[in-house]
Amino acid sequence: MNIVEIINKKRLKEVLSKEELEHAFNGYLKDLIPDYQMSSLLMAICINGMSDEEIFNLTDIFINSGDKLDLSMINSIKVDKHSTGGVGDKTTLIVLPLVASCGVVVPKMSGRGLGHTGGTIDKLESIPGFKVDLDENEFLNLIKKNGLAITSQTKNLTPLDKKIYALRDVTGTTESIPLIASSIMSKKIAGSANKILVDIKVGTGALIKTMGDAVRLSEIMKKIGAKYQVEVRTLMTPMDNPLGRAIGNRIEVMEAINVLEGKDNSYLTELSIQIASHMVSMGKNISYDEAKEEVLLSLNNKEAYQKFISFIISQGGNLSKLVLSSKTQLIKSPKTGIITEINALKMGNLAVSLGAGRSNKTDIIKPDVGIFLNKVVGEQVNIGDTLCTLYVDKECHIPVQDYFIIK
Ligand code: URA
Repeated sequence: MNIVEIINKKRLKEVLSKEELEHAFNGYLKDLIPDYQMSSLLMAICINGMSDEEIFNLTDIFINSGDKLDLSMINSIKVDKHSTGGVGDKTTLIVLPLVASCGVVVPKMSGRGLGHTGGTIDKLESIPGFKVDLDENEFLNLIKKNGLAITSQTKNLTPLDKKIYALRDVTGTTESIPLIASSIMSKKIAGSANKILVDIKVGTGALIKTMGDAVRLSEIMKKIGAKYQVEVRTLMTPMDNPLGRAIGNRIEVMEAINVLEGKDNSYLTELSIQIASHMVSMGKNISYDEAKEEVLLSLNNKEAYQKFISFIISQGGNLSKLVLSSKTQLIKSPKTGIITEINALKMGNLAVSLGAGRSNKTDIIKPDVGIFLNKVVGEQVNIGDTLCTLYVDKECHIPVQDYFIIK
């Protein structure tokens, strides 16, 4: 088998056999296929797509590239969540303590940022001392103790996805339904989740730009789930504007704490309650409305907040050391009016350029940089008002009108 022929086949929109996919992807994992050839194949997949059968096969290859997590010692239903990636999406940090405080077990493996979208592991790693790479024993013990633990993908769990994900991040191949579906589903299946809630982000700031693509992604993920007896529920939620006011890593952890302390009543809180209610409904086999009552109670009586604190402390995090860069840059409004749009894609890219994300595989994240939106969509601003505060290590120029639409 020849990798160039395989690339050409996909370029010509032909269907690849399981053997051809194995040759290319397993070869890449074993370093027999170089980055440049895999990048080329990924780009051909990105442009020409894949059949359902190819997606099933690719998911299987990803799952079998490593070990499966053995969670058989945890008797209850294991519910996982996944967001397809957005700007300012810190819902995992809010939702997991909410769900765990309602008695549903949530063993979670999370990823790093991808393209202009942030990742839970980068956010958690911005908490001084927080350990993101638990070994299997530590992970299981913490789940038993807190009902909740978050770790980065262990080395042996879908190592192929880990390698491909890092390459996609820097080769413009993130926005592909087949690649997203197999990446997400392989991790969840290898991670032994019984039920999964996927929040498909749709809009200019998301990997998925149209409702049609979101529906296709939802369908294929449910089909993959069915093959492995995993129940998949999906939500399709907007991502044209950033979610919440904070974009970055540590700054997003701070906003998540604010929500858990009951100090926020924005769409971020509403969406977190919605996701958590679905997960509790799946985990306890109860209706959505019954689950929502439990979730609201645990938010209001601060049980979820207490759960968050014990989870962070158990993984070594020190929340008293959450400081942002002391160097700030205020972006002022050039006119008076109402904010009708904040371009999430541009904001995500701005956060990356400040150092909150990666442009190269080897880039090191700066935990204390980020963006705080002093004004959000729907708010009135006067000329000279601060639209957003940038926490930076060096000043940058931003053409305000590209980021904020004010009418
Ligand atoms: N999240 C993932 O885990 N993989 C993708 O490809 C996109 C979002």
